[in-house]
Order: sequence, then structure tokens, then C-alpha cells
Amino acid sequence: MSAYADFLGKGNVTTFPCGQKRNFLSNLFNRSGKGDESPERIERIKETLKKTAVGRDALDFLAERGTKIGFEKLSYYGYFSPEKNVIALSSDFSDKDLTMTLVHEARHAKQDSVIENLSSKLTPAALLKNGFMIEADACAAECVLAHELKELGDKSFYKAHQKTEYAPMSKAFEDEFARSGDADKAREAAMLKWYDLSIKNGYADSYVRQIWSTAVHREDGSFKQNPSGREMAEKLCLNGAGKCYLSDPAVLDSSDKVVLNDKQAKSLKQTMIAYCSDTGVSYASLGLDGIYHKGRGGVRKITSEMPYEAREIKLMLGRGGR
Ligand SMILES: [Zn+2]
Repeated sequence: MSAYADFLGKGNVTTFPCGQKRNFLSNLFNRSGKGDESPERIERIKETLKKTAVGRDALDFLAERGTKIGFEKLSYYGYFSPEKNVIALSSDFSDKDLTMTLVHEARHAKQDSVIENLSSKLTPAALLKNGFMIEADACAAECVLAHELKELGDKSFYKAHQKTEYAPMSKAFEDEFARSGDADKAREAAMLKWYDLSIKNGYADSYVRQIWSTAVHREDGSFKQNPSGREMAEKLCLNGAGKCYLSDPAVLDSSDKVVLNDKQAKSLKQTMIAYCSDTGVSYASLGLDGIYHKGRGGVRKITSEMPYEAREIKLMLGRGGR
């Protein structure tokens, strides 16, 4: 598996490449250790993680699962592969980048042990909710790490994070923590902030493309599972004690969380009108009435912009109607 292009091209995405924009962190974090692929470097990264509760949780989980951690030539920070049970890190980035990446990928490994994420069995709505959720949760774990290190007197991870496009997440974490002193609330604030980041668009693009691929290939079981965002979050968005850190997990089903831009909405509508017309499956059974489009006219359900229930169109055409 070579690059993000392969990730996009795969019908059923089972790896989790992260940070696909090569330069957004690497120009800002320091370059210590760059190019070094020694086992000692991984040990160094682990030593930093061991200082924190979130880091120890991650390492304990990976040890229990037997996940191997190694270096690979990648154009992004790293990935977790469930099939290979491997976390690969790109040595081209700094120790700080890779420490953050390891806690992020460990989070994906943990998520993968709970439910099958990014599965083609998920309906379009469930896939979008699932995909956004696992990224937001993994990025929030990085904010927890930066915060815990900051509490120990090392502000460098937080400061570096503040120079990335993920900065609003760590700021939301610290603001909420300063207000309430509640680490769960702070983690929730960081996680929900992910949905406002422009990087969300890149993930939405890839999920819309995956939905298209699933619709084209139509394997047994495709689009059959439709869990709500709340159901998935209660299993995936857990703190170190195994409790959901979201005060209201149902927020992940709301119109401002399951929302697409013009291009994505257009593409998804075309795909699903064709799919539903061919198969007779209703929009509602695919959760499409829970997906929103934010365009010039405000936020609307994408189904409100789809002409009729595609099944009805098929029936009308079958009767010779126009
Ligand atoms: Zn990720």
C-alpha cells in the first residue's frame, strides 16, 4: 500500500493514513530525529508517551494487541493497518510529530478493536458519521497528550500544536479545562472542534468516494448496517476509564456534524439516486435523510434536494409515466 491515492482507490478502506497534507505539521514542529529509523528512536518516542496517562493507555493497549511499530517511507505521518496489526511511522518527520502520530494511530487501533470502522457494510450516513468520529476522536487524543505533557511542565507539544491547523482543537481543550477543570469536558470540546476544521473536507471527499465505490461494486452486505452516531460514539469515544467522554453523544447525528459541501453533496446525490433507482432501496433505509448539505440556501437534508424517492421514479417509469 503505497500512498493516500491507494486509500482513496480502495473500495473498503481498512487502513487509517493520517495527516495526508505533508507539510502542515512538519514545517512547524522541530526536526529532531528526522530520517532516523532506529529502534532506539521508537523507544525515545515511547518514553515521552510513558510520562502521560493517555500515552501509557495507548502503549499498554498496543502491547496487549501485539501491534508492531515500525518505520516506512510514507508521504504522510503514519497509518494503522488492522490486517497487518502494524503502526507505521514515517521517519521523515520529527520526534514530536511521531509522538503525536503514535498516540493518534494507537487510538485507531483501539477503535478497530471495538467495531469495524470505515466498513462498506455501513450505510452512507453511518459511514460519514463513523469516519468523522474516528478522526475527531484520534485527533482529540493528541490534545489530551499535549495537555498532560503541559501539566508536567513541557509546553512544547502544546505550543507546536498551536501552530498547526488543528490549533482550534487544543485551544478548545485548554479553554474548557481552564473553565471547568474537567478533562472529559475538555476532551469533548476538542473532539467536537474537529468538525469545524477545513481538513474535514478531505475526509468527507474520501468517504463520498468510498460510498460511490461501494455503490458500484454492490457486494453482499453493502450498506446494510445503519448505526446512529450516538451508538457508535458510546463505544468509540471513551476516556481512560472506559467511559464515554461526550456529554451528549447524539450530537454526532446532528445537521452540523453530518454535513457536506456543494461538490460532495452533488456527487453523493448522483450516486444514491442511481443506486436507489437500480436496487429499489429507499433513501431512508440508507440513512440519507440524516445527511445534510450546507449550500447557499442554508443547511438542508440532501433528500430534500433529490427529486423523488428514486424507487417511485422507477415505478413511474415502469408504468410508462414521464
Ligand atoms: Zn487518523
